[in-house]
Amino acid sequence: MKYRHSLFSDKNPYDTQSDQLFLEAVRENFHYQYRHCKEYRKLSNGLHFNANALMSIEDIMRLPCIPTLFLKRHRMKSAPAFVRATSSGTSGQFSEIGFDFGALLCGFRMVRQTARMHGLLSPTPCHYIIMGYQPHRGNRTAVTKTAYGATFFAPALNRRYILKYRDGKYAPDFDGIISALKKLDNSLFPVRFMGFPSYTFFLMKQLDERGIHVTLKKGSKIMLGGGWKQFYAEQVDKPAFYRLAEKVFGVTDHDIVEFYGAVEHPILYCDCPNHHFHVPTYSRVVIRDVDTLAPVPMGTPGLVNLITPMIRATPVLSVMTDDIGILHSGSSCGCGIQTPYLEIIGRVAPNDIKTCAAGAADILKGVAI
Ligand SMILES: [Zn+2]
Repeated sequence: MKYRHSLFSDKNPYDTQSDQLFLEAVRENFHYQYRHCKEYRKLSNGLHFNANALMSIEDIMRLPCIPTLFLKRHRMKSAPAFVRATSSGTSGQFSEIGFDFGALLCGFRMVRQTARMHGLLSPTPCHYIIMGYQPHRGNRTAVTKTAYGATFFAPALNRRYILKYRDGKYAPDFDGIISALKKLDNSLFPVRFMGFPSYTFFLMKQLDERGIHVTLKKGSKIMLGGGWKQFYAEQVDKPAFYRLAEKVFGVTDHDIVEFYGAVEHPILYCDCPNHHFHVPTYSRVVIRDVDTLAPVPMGTPGLVNLITPMIRATPVLSVMTDDIGILHSGSSCGCGIQTPYLEIIGRVAPNDIKTCAAGAADILKGVAI
C-alpha cells in the first residue's frame, strides 16, 4: 500500500497534480479488494471490470460502486479491522465500516494537513462545546468520534456535551449549555463549538429569543459537522446562520467552518473561506445521472459518487451516497483553491425528511444514535 501512503502524505490537501498518484493508489486498492473480498470480486467480474481497465484517471468512474444503502444492510470486509465505526442510523439500519491501521494513519495525516491549511490548529487552550453526543462505550458512531477528534485541534480546557447519555438514551441539555455559556462570558480563553448544525442553530435561536448575547473571545470558532441528520426541513440558509452567530456570539463567518464526510467515505471535506467544499487530494467525486447513473458534466445535479483508496479493511473504494450534489469548477469559487468543489443540494431519502414542526419537536426531545 505504498501509493496510498504517498497520496495521504501529500502536504497540499488540494493538489491539482495528484491524478497519477491517485490512480496508482486506486489500482493498488482495487487489487487488494479483488483478492480479499469475495463479494467485491463477484461484483467486479459481473461488471467485467479488472485492474487493466484502470489506465487513466477518467477510468476510476468505471470502478464497481457500492451504494451506502447496501452497506447499511450488509457487512462487507476485506481484512481484519483495527477500529470499527458506524453511521448514525435513524431508521435502525446503519453501516459498519472496519478501518485497518494503515487507514487510520492516513486519516490522521489527512486531518492534520487539512486542519493546518484551514487555520484550525492553535496552541491557545479553549473551552469546547460539543453540539453532539457525549462519548459512551455503546456509541460507535463516526460522528461522535469525529467531534471528539476535533477537540484536539487546540488544547482542551474542558468539554461539554449537548447530547447527554442518561438511562440508556441521549437527551439534549440546552439549559446546561446556556448556563455554561453565561459563565464563559468572563473567561480569558476562546470557545470552540463542534457538532450538528441543527443543534447549533437551535441553541443560537434559543439564546436570541431569551435575549442572551455572549461575546466570545477572539479566536473562538464554530465548527459544524455531521449534517442536518433527519432535520433536513429545518435547514436554514447559510447567510441566516452566519447572521445569527454574529448577533448571539460575535463570531463572524470567517470563524465558522463546516465539514462534510460519511463513515463509508471518511474523507475530511472542509469548507473554504467562501464556504465551498473543494475536493481534496485524497478523494475524487463523480456526479451521476439519477436514472442512468452515467457521469454528468460539471454544473449538472446528480447522485454523488465518492472515491478514495484510504481503506483496505472494507471495500469502500467507490461508494454511491444518497446525496444529490453538483460539482463546480474550482476556479469559479475565487478563494484560490483550484480543485473542483461539491455542493450538496439534497438527498434521495424522502422517508428521512421530516416536516419542519416534527423536526423541531425531535430536536428538543432527543434523538436515537
Ligand atoms: Zn473556495
